Amino acid sequence: MNNDDPQKTLSPAHLDRDDPSPSAVPRRTEIRDVDDQTPRAFTGSAQRLSDRPLPYTFDGLDRDGLDRSDPAAIAAALNSPEAEILPIWRRRVLMSDDGDTLHSWPRDRLNEGDPLVFLGLRDGTPYFAADISAHENPETEGTRAQFIDPWMVGPNLDPFLAGVGAYARHLLAWHRSSRFCGRCGSPTEATSAGLERRCTNPDCGEVHFPRINPATIMLVQDPSGERCVMARNHNFPPTIHSILAGYIDAGETLEQTVAREVAEEVGLRIGRVRYAASQPWAFSNSLMIGFFAWSETEALQVNTEELERADWYSRDQIDAHRGSDSFRLPRRDSIARFMIESWMASDPEPL
Ligand SMILES: [Zn+2]
Repeated sequence: MNNDDPQKTLSPAHLDRDDPSPSAVPRRTEIRDVDDQTPRAFTGSAQRLSDRPLPYTFDGLDRDGLDRSDPAAIAAALNSPEAEILPIWRRRVLMSDDGDTLHSWPRDRLNEGDPLVFLGLRDGTPYFAADISAHENPETEGTRAQFIDPWMVGPNLDPFLAGVGAYARHLLAWHRSSRFCGRCGSPTEATSAGLERRCTNPDCGEVHFPRINPATIMLVQDPSGERCVMARNHNFPPTIHSILAGYIDAGETLEQTVAREVAEEVGLRIGRVRYAASQPWAFSNSLMIGFFAWSETEALQVNTEELERADWYSRDQIDAHRGSDSFRLPRRDSIARFMIESWMASDPEPL
């Protein structure tokens, strides 16, 4: 039913029949062939969680592979010929013209003051990310590549590249929005090679960490385990149906968030939850924490302020409806899609 293969090149046939993501990457109209200085490509291999790939989760990058407290070691790695520097330009990543890999950025094309973070070490190769948003026209600086929002290409990228690109985008966006101390208002500066920021006021010295918004996402089953709740939020793209989700409130446990959100959105009483998987979702700086949940009740009371509709669906009904004019599943790179397809492939488990 789902022929995911993130290493294929882009083509409409590469996408599922019910995948809402873009079918092709927009092309540049002009490619510079003369004196081409195309940076070398990142390389990577697919990582899998369980027996299925879950995009934006990836292994193989040792974030503590260098001593982050040693600026000389970080600088030496940055200046080494092996260094890969992933450029982020106005929240976009640098994509090859064929749309299937990310490009690194030449060290000598960084400007003084471009924010730079050390992402980690992979097989001895140091990976960095640079915020080059101050560059006016980076695509004209001799690259055969284009800057693209990773939101557009995530479903088609190799999981390592999609994950490291999203990680870099999240981290650098946080640096841009955290230049002043929330405690005393003084400027902050990046420390720990970009994993933290520290207040420059010696009387304060507050350390700031990247903001991550935790959210639960839950596939709610009836007591028999035969059906699950699929809903349409008012904000969803047309015809997309998905499972329920909600941000965690201060003071709540994950289980309490699941129970509260389900009660608020569809009026069901949850009797059991089981952890499924988690996924960093850089597009909203979130960590999505997935659960399979079982309801003790079956009468849906849909909160129409939040949801357009919600209904029970069996595995066969989802399979029959998916890809139709009125029912599509969420993005192929989402944990929602991962959980729905995992559930569809599983045997019913009662409460
Ligand atoms: Zn401060």
